[in-house]
Amino acid sequence: MNDRRVLITGGAGFIGSHLVRGFLTLTSAQVLNFDKLTYAGNLESLRDVSDSPRYRFMQCDIGDIGAVNTAFAEFEPDIVVNLAAESHVDRSIAMPDEFIQTNIVGTFTMLEAGRAYWNALPSDRKERFRFLHISTDEVYGSLGSDDPPFHEETPYSPHNPYSASKASADHLVRAWHNTYGFPVLITNCSNNYGPYQYPEKLIPKTIRDALDGQALSIHGDGKQIRDWLFVPDHVTAILRVLKSGVIGRSYLVAGENQYSVLDVVEKICDLLDELKPTTEGSYRQQIKHVVDRPGNDRRYAIDSTRLQTELGWKRSVSFDEGLRRTVEWYLANDDWGRG
Ligand code: NAD
Repeated sequence: MNDRRVLITGGAGFIGSHLVRGFLTLTSAQVLNFDKLTYAGNLESLRDVSDSPRYRFMQCDIGDIGAVNTAFAEFEPDIVVNLAAESHVDRSIAMPDEFIQTNIVGTFTMLEAGRAYWNALPSDRKERFRFLHISTDEVYGSLGSDDPPFHEETPYSPHNPYSASKASADHLVRAWHNTYGFPVLITNCSNNYGPYQYPEKLIPKTIRDALDGQALSIHGDGKQIRDWLFVPDHVTAILRVLKSGVIGRSYLVAGENQYSVLDVVEKICDLLDELKPTTEGSYRQQIKHVVDRPGNDRRYAIDSTRLQTELGWKRSVSFDEGLRRTVEWYLANDDWGRG
C-alpha cells in the first residue's frame, strides 16, 4: 500500500474517517478524501491527521460526473474506496430519494468515471488499479433464529430502501467487472461501532441520550440480533482485501459479536453506571420500548471464513473491550457531533 494513491469517497464519515487515518498512520500512501459533507460528514473527525502532507480534501458529490472526473484526472489514484453513501435506515424510510441518488446513481457515476480513467492508464498502472466498494450485510435480508449465517453466495434479499439501494449498487459494481473487466472488490460488513459515529446510530445515540437524561428508545422488543464490528478492525480488513483480495470477489467482514439491540443498550447503561454514575440510580431506568420500525430485520449474522482463511484477517477486539473504549471516547469528547 505504501506507494499507492488512494481516493476515498465518504472519508469525512464514520468509517471513512477511520480509513483515512488508517492509511495515513499505517502506510505511506497519499490520500484524497472526496466527500460532499452531508449532515453525516465531519472534518473534525480528521483533525489529528488532516495536516499531513499526504492528505488532501475535495468537497464534492459522487453523483457529480464533472467533479469525479476532475478528481481522477488530477489525483491519479491507484485505489478507489467507495464509502460515500446515505447510511441510516430510518432516514431511508422517511426520505428514500437521496438514497437512490447517492447510493445507486453516485456509485454508477464513480464506476463510469473510474472505468474511463482505468482504460486510459498505462499497463503497469492498469494492472494494479483497484475499485473497492464498501457494502453491508443488510443486502442479504433477515435470518431466523436457527438459520446459518450469511456467506458470500447467499442470495440478496434487501428489505428496506437503504439495503435495497446498497444491493443495487453491489449489482452495478459486479456488472462493471463482468461486463468491462473493471477490477472491483466488494466488502459487506456488519454493524460498525466506535469513536466518531454520528449520534443517530444505536450506540452513540444511546450513550448521548443516557447522559442527557433522555429516554433510551428501543424498537419493538429489542431482540433484533446484530453483529458488531469495532471500526479499527474493519480498517484492517479493508487493507487486507486491497492488498490480497481476488479481483471480482466479495468478502464478508464480521465482528463475530452477536448481541441483541437490548443487550447492547443494557451493556452501555452498565458501563455508564460504572464510568459516570448518577445519584438517580441505573441508566437502565431510562430504557423505553417504542413501536418497531417497518421492515426491521430480525437477525443478521455473517460468516467471514473467506476473509479469515484466504486473507488471514482476524478481528482484534472483543465486543466488551470495544464498547468500553467507545463509551470512554464519547465521555471524553462530549462536544463532538453535537453541532
Ligand atoms: P456515514 O453516514 O457516517 O458517512 C457517510 C459519508 O459519506 C459522510 O461523510 C457524507 O458526507 C458522505 N456522503 C454522503 N453522500 C455523499 C455524496 N453524494 N457524495 C460524496 N460524499 C457523500 O456512513 P458510514 O457509517 O461511515 O458508512 C460508510 C459506508 O459503509 C457506507 O457505504 C455504508 O453503507 C457502509 N456500511 C456502514 C455500516 C455501519 O455500521 N456504519 C455497516 C455496513 C456498511
